[in-house]
Amino acid sequence: MRSPSTKLKLYNTLSRQKENFRPLNKSKVSLYTCGPTVYNFAHIGNLRTYIFEDILERTLLFLGFNVKRVMNITDVGHLTNDSDEGEDKMEQEAHKEKKDVLEVAHIYTEAFLNDIKKLNIKIPKIIAPATKFIPEQQKLIQKLFEKGLAYETKNAVYFDVTRYGLKKYLRLSRQPIEEKRIAVRAKVVKDPEKKHPSDFALWFKITGKFKNHVLQWDSPWEKGFPGWHIECSAISEYFLKQPFDIHTGGIDHIAVHHTNEMAQSEGAYNKELAHFWLHGEFLVINNERMGKSLGNFLTLRKIEDRSLPPLAYRYFILGAHYRSQLNFHWEALESSNQSLQNLYKQVGRLIFDARQSKMKILRHDYEKKFLTALSDDLNTPQALASLHALLYDDKLSPVQRLDTAKKFDKVLQLSLIETARKRMRIPFHISVAKKHYHAFRRNQQFVQSDTLRKRLNALGYGVEDTPYGPFLWPIKQK
Ligand code: AMP
Ligand code: ZN
Repeated sequence: MRSPSTKLKLYNTLSRQKENFRPLNKSKVSLYTCGPTVYNFAHIGNLRTYIFEDILERTLLFLGFNVKRVMNITDVGHLTNDSDEGEDKMEQEAHKEKKDVLEVAHIYTEAFLNDIKKLNIKIPKIIAPATKFIPEQQKLIQKLFEKGLAYETKNAVYFDVTRYGLKKYLRLSRQPIEEKRIAVRAKVVKDPEKKHPSDFALWFKITGKFKNHVLQWDSPWEKGFPGWHIECSAISEYFLKQPFDIHTGGIDHIAVHHTNEMAQSEGAYNKELAHFWLHGEFLVINNERMGKSLGNFLTLRKIEDRSLPPLAYRYFILGAHYRSQLNFHWEALESSNQSLQNLYKQVGRLIFDARQSKMKILRHDYEKKFLTALSDDLNTPQALASLHALLYDDKLSPVQRLDTAKKFDKVLQLSLIETARKRMRIPFHISVAKKHYHAFRRNQQFVQSDTLRKRLNALGYGVEDTPYGPFLWPIKQK
């Protein structure tokens, strides 16, 4: 394991610059990543954010840190509109599918876990559904009342942004208050008792449009259910305490969700919520953000339906820096897949050569380049470039290249070695044909060897002649 002293620089949204990362608690990094709202399948834009977070976690591990990662699952309280209007997304979907709300949550949580598994994303050690942390959320709301930062109306309990301080409130987003006010007004504030249009709900009461809300809990402020943001404040405090090291999400979270989380947590405990705030840029399609509500989204299943492997999508994502917008189109994904398949074949070839090659071990600086790339705010395109250069550097022995690639794959997670080994397993009748082919070539019976090569091709295997005999590789990837 590497020493955690390697300088890692991360772009902190709070300061709008790259900063040297040092954990608050020696080598243990506390990481909070906002999870999905489980009312539908994750789309590949959401999955881009989870891949970025996975690279972050794996880079930290690679650098020798221990990581305690927490992810929430939003199964209540996330409304269709950010300014406390609209319906609860979960209840709306349950109604549409004629299912129980928690059943919907279960179905899409499982689907989400399945998707991230297919993308080789490490499942967070702690996954916390909002509905399992209601007492913690209520405790936090009570704390906000004690601090004079919460008030109750007929419909809800709100966070008092003015009492908290508008300047402080906009610390993360750096949005001019006028802009924020206009944005909120544009969405029509329906609760006349709200003191300021930016005040946001901590608790919704079972009344008015929510009178049939299925999920509801007793509380000091009438039966109801929590607002969306309070779950992250309560869950992060429960598992990580305040302040913790890194908080992440997509850039859409900066202006509303993370701004509100920060205000609640910092208002309640007079302590910073998180030291570093990292945000992944959007995946766009036809120059428009991919979004569930925009109806322009694709799921991982759609990619698989086109016989493209999920890891081709991971490779596609790693080809762009997480802070740049990335435009999705099928041709780009196809071409990422082609590059990935070429890498698998090259790794296969190295495994094949490694059995015979007696090359000496040389010093090289690929590992340094790889580390430098990732340590520079997770520069995955550069890290991929060093993987490519390494695998094709024939001054280095196959064993050396494989050993180093194996290390790189701890972070990149493209299943390089496993996939290559799997592809190299050939059925018995093919290995018999391969032996015959090799014998014909050795005996210079080229007519026979050519015939057999064509037969092997027809059976789905390409044949490459190497100094160590024929190297077989399946033409169609499975
Ligand atoms: P949600 O399930 O809507 O809470 O979103 C889950 C995660 O996906 C959040 O971190 C969002 O910021 C992120 N996200 C949403 N849309 C996109 C997109 N088009 N590209 C990248 N990330 C996104
Ligand atoms: Zn959150």
